[in-house]
Amino acid sequence: MKIHEYQARQLFSENGIPVPSAQVVRTVDEAAAAFGQFGGQMCVVKAQVYAGGRGKAGFVKLVHNEDEARQAAQFMLTHRMTSYQTGPEGVPVSVLIVAPGVQIAKEYYLGMTIDRSRQTVTLIASSEGGVEIEEVAKKSPEKVLKIPFHPLLGLQSYQARDVAIQLGFEDKMVGEAAKLMMNLAKVFISTDASLAEINPLVITTDGKLLAIDAQINFDDNALFRHQNIEAMADESQERELDVRAKKANLNYIALDGSIGCLVNGAGLAMSTMDIIKLHGAEPANFLDVGGGVTAEGAIEAFKIILSDTNVKGILVNIFGGIAKCDLIAEALVKAGREVGFKVPVVVRLEGTNVVRAREILKAAQGELPTLIPATDLTDAAKKVVAAVA
Ligand code: GDP
Ligand code: MN
Repeated sequence: MKIHEYQARQLFSENGIPVPSAQVVRTVDEAAAAFGQFGGQMCVVKAQVYAGGRGKAGFVKLVHNEDEARQAAQFMLTHRMTSYQTGPEGVPVSVLIVAPGVQIAKEYYLGMTIDRSRQTVTLIASSEGGVEIEEVAKKSPEKVLKIPFHPLLGLQSYQARDVAIQLGFEDKMVGEAAKLMMNLAKVFISTDASLAEINPLVITTDGKLLAIDAQINFDDNALFRHQNIEAMADESQERELDVRAKKANLNYIALDGSIGCLVNGAGLAMSTMDIIKLHGAEPANFLDVGGGVTAEGAIEAFKIILSDTNVKGILVNIFGGIAKCDLIAEALVKAGREVGFKVPVVVRLEGTNVVRAREILKAAQGELPTLIPATDLTDAAKKVVAAVA
């Protein structure tokens, strides 16, 4: 789960990380008023979206007078933000922050994430922070430090001080930077975060250490422990189909191909995608309806898959175990009646009561001509690939 920058700033600030104050605004007038409130000095106007790359996309703007503040807010509130992190459709902008602009002497990168290959949490730091950090990581990986730390003990003082020195901090700034890193580690661990990032962390021209961007993502599986965080979710930032799938307890991930997949079990979903590719087509999604699939779940799953206009055919691949094949066949027929199968739906069922299930599908043929039964997985893949060709 993601939250907005202004919420992350609040969380960081509560945990002892120095963050400049900011005003959350939703209209051009509010943006102008906030500019005035900060005493008419240089401010920064920033779109609040669940994606980075705002600076390069024109959604982080330094403004020097009320007119500029209005113009920046007007632009951001009337355009979707598109960056390398969003895909061509971009994300909508309805909230901005206005914060006093800082004079930057140097930008650093500070991040924390779970390094799966080392199986532990890791601090990532660079003295080359800012909007080019991805380029730095690609072209000069030696400029990016990675320091694994203990998930229960947290980031130790000696580790944090060592990183601060390697980043080039001197004198009393070593201690300040180290403290900041340890506080970030505390937030990271106590919130069950999957990513926490300050980019850039800056030294101002008058020698202050400040986090001027803040990002944090959380592990969805731990959200039940953090109801205050769960309450911060902004559904307007998520794709509509993702929100619907989450509400229906479906594991849904949209992909770029033309064959929609409706499968029970993640492993079976993977092999379904593999076999579609093997026969020369691409899956349009990964959708795992779970072991205990119900008629209602299957209907909602069809609705979600069918609202993707890229879908030219659907492959239903279900192993009837906990939910028996005949129940699933009935659910499919019910879904067909309710949703209307506008594209070919190839069905491969296997497992308990499969004979009865095939009879049900056969009996529905006249009524649902686009429902195509398959004998096995290869047959199903061939039929669905042929249907979208
Ligand atoms: P991102 O592009 O989405 O990561 O947005 P950031 O909040 O990181 O802003 C992008 C860039 O804008 C930063 O790397 C800074 O260089 C610049 N920036 C942001 N806030 C300020 C500010 O208060 N003063 C100055 N001088 N630059 C800023
Ligand atoms: Mn940033």
